[in-house]
Amino acid sequence: MPNAKAKIGVIGGSGLYNMEELKGVKEVEIDTPFGRPSDSIVTGTLDDVGIAFLPRHGKGHRLNPSEVPYRANIYAMKSLGVEWLISVNAVGGLKFKLKPGDLVIPDQLIDRTRNRVNTFFGEGVVAHIPFADPFCPVLSQILFKSAQRLGAEVHPKGTCVVIEGPAFSTRAESRLYRSWDADIVGMTLSPEARLAREAEICYAGIAGVTDYDSWQDQAEPLSVDVILETLNKNIDVIQKIIKLSIAWLPPERDCVCARAMKTAIATARQSIPDGQKKKLEPLIGKYLKGDRS
Ligand SMILES: [Zn+2]
Repeated sequence: MPNAKAKIGVIGGSGLYNMEELKGVKEVEIDTPFGRPSDSIVTGTLDDVGIAFLPRHGKGHRLNPSEVPYRANIYAMKSLGVEWLISVNAVGGLKFKLKPGDLVIPDQLIDRTRNRVNTFFGEGVVAHIPFADPFCPVLSQILFKSAQRLGAEVHPKGTCVVIEGPAFSTRAESRLYRSWDADIVGMTLSPEARLAREAEICYAGIAGVTDYDSWQDQAEPLSVDVILETLNKNIDVIQKIIKLSIAWLPPERDCVCARAMKTAIATARQSIPDGQKKKLEPLIGKYLKGDRS
């Protein structure tokens, strides 16, 4: 277990690579049974609350969405003591009302990724977490209220289609997602949300709309430069939203996320291999106590 402790984690997406207001900053190198996280984790305090910050794509944006070590990232956050995890993401808008520059607090996702491991379990431990509502309702509501208070153009909910990437969607795909009534399209909310739930971490997202994806006939081809420019305009307000949200978090958690694993493990405790018990101790150790096998 690392020495540093943090109650709140922030995973920064494209455009958010550090948090300037953190005090007492330390860089923590963490190794996990699932490999190394995307980068060293920066810990510090914001208004006396312990924060852990990780740039999802690594410093310098080196990892593409398929290469991000999602399991190592979430495991590292868990081992630092993180209970609340705020995920910042760049997304495309699938509806006119979701304009470039707007923020969306997603409440649903449709997972279209194909090349990512999306669970900590397997290899002798079977677990099925409840995931009907993939985002923490408490944290999502706080992020929305903070954004509103700060005068941001923010939408309180939205369904995000998560694509594998790294290419943006084809026009036919973009229109298909619109026909599903999805609101935004991104590349990173899954498996992050799923793994956070398995780790019993309250997880919610702030998605910054950077473009209209490719569903319009006359759409200009998407350009990373334009996307980053739109995103950069929002980074300041996103940092303020995070700061205000931290002040509004309840002292204790009383949502489903905090006990997601309680009824999830299907494998008989005595059948779980010792190696897996050790590896998954930070995630399920408390549910294996009293197990004499
Ligand atoms: Zn929660």
